[in-house]
Amino acid sequence: FSYVNRGGLKNSGYSEEEILKLTPLDLKTDFNLRSFRQLINPLLTNEKEKIEFFTTHKRKDGSFYPVEVHLQLLEEGSQRKFVAIILDITERLRANELLDKANRLAVIGNWEVDVEKETVYWSPITREIHEVDIDFVPDLSKGVDFYVEGDNREKIIQCVQNCVNLGESWDEELQITTLNKNLKWVRVIGQGEFLDGKCIRIYGSFQDITERKIQEEQLVILNNSLKVYTKELERSNEELEQFAFITSHDLQEPLRMIASFMDMLKRKYADRLDEKGLQYIHYATDGAKRMRQIILDLLDYSRADKPTESVEKVNFNEIISYFEMLRRKVISENSVKIIVSELPTLNLYKGPITQVLYSLLDNAIKYARKGVIPILEISSKEFENEWEFAVKDNGIGIDSKFYDKIFIIFQRLHNRNEYDGTGIGLSIAKKHVEFMGGKIWVESTLGVGSTFYFTIPKK
Ligand code: ADP
Repeated sequence: FSYVNRGGLKNSGYSEEEILKLTPLDLKTDFNLRSFRQLINPLLTNEKEKIEFFTTHKRKDGSFYPVEVHLQLLEEGSQRKFVAIILDITERLRANELLDKANRLAVIGNWEVDVEKETVYWSPITREIHEVDIDFVPDLSKGVDFYVEGDNREKIIQCVQNCVNLGESWDEELQITTLNKNLKWVRVIGQGEFLDGKCIRIYGSFQDITERKIQEEQLVILNNSLKVYTKELERSNEELEQFAFITSHDLQEPLRMIASFMDMLKRKYADRLDEKGLQYIHYATDGAKRMRQIILDLLDYSRADKPTESVEKVNFNEIISYFEMLRRKVISENSVKIIVSELPTLNLYKGPITQVLYSLLDNAIKYARKGVIPILEISSKEFENEWEFAVKDNGIGIDSKFYDKIFIIFQRLHNRNEYDGTGIGLSIAKKHVEFMGGKIWVESTLGVGSTFYFTIPKK
């Protein structure tokens, strides 16, 4: 070496003084004197002006790095000098390798058409997608005939024409038939390269998207069957609600008759009946009363997601105050303590939200522990998209395995002798809350107390 620039020193790790004592063969360990002479012979014989080759260079510390070498022989007077430009291609190789791996991962191949020479290049992945051998040469004169059929053929020909004539690039998804007659979905992207307004090259990518297409198709099928199923569900739900509505109306009438005749029986014939007879009348009247309650609740349930009023400003603290006034008897009899924090005023359907709060509060009083003063706490928390309300009691609590069950219509955890009820209250509350777009759930410890939570979205 007679001269090495700063980049050359940096890449090789030698100082200027050190490298000037070396020859190219000290760096190029894949060559010996003979093979190197052979390589540069075309320059020595003036057969070529310039040669380019790839090799590996050895650094001072013994490590290797890949290089691209451009070598030229210059004559300066009687002196002949080799001038070499050496590019460290470590990064380029890494990038190529990564691109290759990524392409393989995404099954993306490349292709190129040299318009002037009328040659086609397909990358290995493009060949794999078409299921052709490595020595297969796509015949440009056949165009896209052999792999694209029907409408797709017209489409791709149009794309190529628009590219050549109008300079438009394309990005299409189409079906191809491979050499083995397999159908595949591919995404083809193409773009032209122009010189003096003439298209000289078209290149692009070729991606196998069969898997995705199959999944999309399955999703469409699934979606359609889901739509049918939902419609069916809506219809049967509607029917059921209508049924509940009609039967509850129709049942009222005979029930009223039973109740009033029982009443008449008692008034007119009480003196002629013994204790047992009176007890039977009492049971029958009680049964009719309970049935009436069930029917009324059922009616409520069937109407729970069909508010007849419109949305208005609802002050939650006012609802609680009103509850305390209405239930003042049971509250004072049981020395119930109600602690209410500052609650919001929201735009809502007043009837449904009142019913939700009343059934939670009624339950909190009803399911109190014997001998323990019921303490109810009502609070709210504001989140970004919703309000969360909590009704906490210190009652009997609920086993965690029943957390979901209690929200199902007619599901009760106790019999009527222990606690009166129809098992509909919480299912109505759930229907109302869900109609408003919220959720309702419970957290509880047996023998300690329960907290019922529900949310109301702000929008
Ligand atoms: P009902 O009170 O008429 O039985 P609900 O639907 O209101 O019907 O409640 C369903 C069941 O959930 C009740 O039977 C009871 O077992 C349980 N439950 C509801 N609220 C509470 C509470 N605050 N503490 C304990 N158990 C409760």
